[in-house]
Amino acid sequence: MTPTVLVLAEASGGLLTGPTKEAIGVARTLAGPDGSLAAVTMGGPSALEALAPFGPKEVWVADVPPEAATSGAVAALAAHAADESRAAIVLLGGTTFGRDVTGRLAVRWGAAAATGATEVAIAGPEEVHVRRPVFGGRATEMRRLVGPRTVIALRPHAFAEAAASAGTPTVHVLDRSVIPATEGAARRRSLDPAEPGSGPSLSDATIVVSGGRGMRAAENFHLIEELAQSLGAAVGASRAVTDAGWRPTSFQIGQTGRAVSPQLYIAVGISGAIQHVVGMVSSRTIVAINTDASAPIFKVADYGLVGDALTILPALTREVRKVRGLPAN
Ligand SMILES: Cc1cc2nc3c(=O)[nH]c(=O)nc-3n(C[C@H](O)[C@H](O)[C@H](O)COP(=O)(O)OP(=O)(O)OC[C@H]3O[C@@H](n4cnc5c(N)ncnc54)[C@H](O)[C@@H]3O)c2cc1C
Repeated sequence: MTPTVLVLAEASGGLLTGPTKEAIGVARTLAGPDGSLAAVTMGGPSALEALAPFGPKEVWVADVPPEAATSGAVAALAAHAADESRAAIVLLGGTTFGRDVTGRLAVRWGAAAATGATEVAIAGPEEVHVRRPVFGGRATEMRRLVGPRTVIALRPHAFAEAAASAGTPTVHVLDRSVIPATEGAARRRSLDPAEPGSGPSLSDATIVVSGGRGMRAAENFHLIEELAQSLGAAVGASRAVTDAGWRPTSFQIGQTGRAVSPQLYIAVGISGAIQHVVGMVSSRTIVAINTDASAPIFKVADYGLVGDALTILPALTREVRKVRGLPAN
């Protein structure tokens, strides 16, 4: 029997996020033509409108204001939807929030769990196999998740986004009374450095431009932002930059920051310390710009430019804007 696969859907500005569309694509494959794709969302009517064109048969919807949608509250609502939909698998996008909810949902729902999945396959009744990178992407492991319930957060950009498909879902309204009183007072604060409307978040971005101490001073960091803006990219930073207070810690990529795996990661003036590399090494293509040809970052880079970032960045931004038909800055 094919399972019901439930996707925890996140929408922003009336559109489904990229990680949610990736999860829907995987859910469709797992459910197969005879299985059932269901979704649960906290975003009220606008999220429902964004979800409907992606073909879930049933949608559980709660209208929770963003600041009240803590991982604990969302896990409680999602567990309720998972019970009601009789789901066997719950899939989440590979965002920081998705990973956070995964553990709480697995405990609340009594499920086996994995995060960072780059492959998901149903291996038999009550057995799902998940492949995920470990040791900063240097190896992968295959995990057997055994039991009637499984919660999996995907690795961002590891799967193609689902295309829209026809269908009108049956809608169920989730009652917020299932949120435990202990979660009621908690408030969620965004971890995303991007201001709304100023570019993609680090979690969603397909391109990330990161700056390091090689940018020499906070006043030069706008060169990173201008290149990012011309590419439609998110901005990241090394810990040297966040420790120096040039940018907030929410920009930090690495062991004690965020892990990203965009299609393209551009590391500018970053030496390539292991603590930075573990946060970006699984990016599809890595470009490094550094004055020092022997900098360790070139060991993980697919393309390297040896030279002064303060000269290269303005020229690169100019070229990108020209090629993309954008007005000169
Ligand atoms: C427990 C622990 C956790 C850590 N966690 C993290 C983490 O999460 N993320 C993180 O990033 N670091 C982390 N670090 C710090 C890490 O070890 C490095 O110190 C840090 O990544 C260095 O940042 P950087 O590459 O910007 O600076 P540097 O190492 O100083 O490198 C600057 C680079 O810029 C180059 N450069 C100089 N001038 C120019 C120029 N004009 N143009 C181009 N290139 C130039 C230099 O050749 C050099 O390679 C952690 C460290 C510890 C001990």
